[in-house]
Amino acid sequence: MPSRRILLHVCCGPCAIVPAERLLDAGWEVTALFYNPNIHPLTEYLKRREGVREVADRLGFRVIYKDDEYDPQLYFRTVAQREANRCFHCYSLRLERAHAIAKRGRFDAFTSTLLYSKHQKHETIAGLGRDIAGGGDPVFHYEDYRTGWQQGIETSKEWGIYRQQYCGCLYSEFERFRNDLRNVSSS
Ligand code: SF4
Repeated sequence: MPSRRILLHVCCGPCAIVPAERLLDAGWEVTALFYNPNIHPLTEYLKRREGVREVADRLGFRVIYKDDEYDPQLYFRTVAQREANRCFHCYSLRLERAHAIAKRGRFDAFTSTLLYSKHQKHETIAGLGRDIAGGGDPVFHYEDYRTGWQQGIETSKEWGIYRQQYCGCLYSEFERFRNDLRNVSSS
């Protein structure tokens, strides 16, 4: 019986390790999709892209890099005027694209490494995936990859995969480092 094909949306190398290992172990034929217009600036995008390439080489799966669709303007237009709920729209942008590519490519299922991160809104991502799939093909494949959180960290360090300091967008970079600004302002 031919193995089932799944499109795995990936956000970065470290987050890809546990989901890809589990899917491969379960017998899925895994193709990854690197589609992330939310990663700023471009130099950061390139570092994460390289991390994904290294993980894919080690685990042996193919990656579709949507570099021609790396468009920060699309991200900013998507979240404009609704920044307080920006993560919902950011997830939606990426999962809808993953679903469309999976459908066009006749994949059996799609999913995302966003389900690995303890820092993301897990239930929101799972609900969006199901809603976007709408009960048709390709189905949204749900697993709680957070149970492998520590394993993913340790493996990414052992392999020397680039580990980012913030989620991706300029807003998250600001939130991560705003204390640096406070510190220089008060000194
Ligand atoms: S914090 Fe992360 S998930 Fe939320 S909008 Fe920014 S890049 Fe997207």
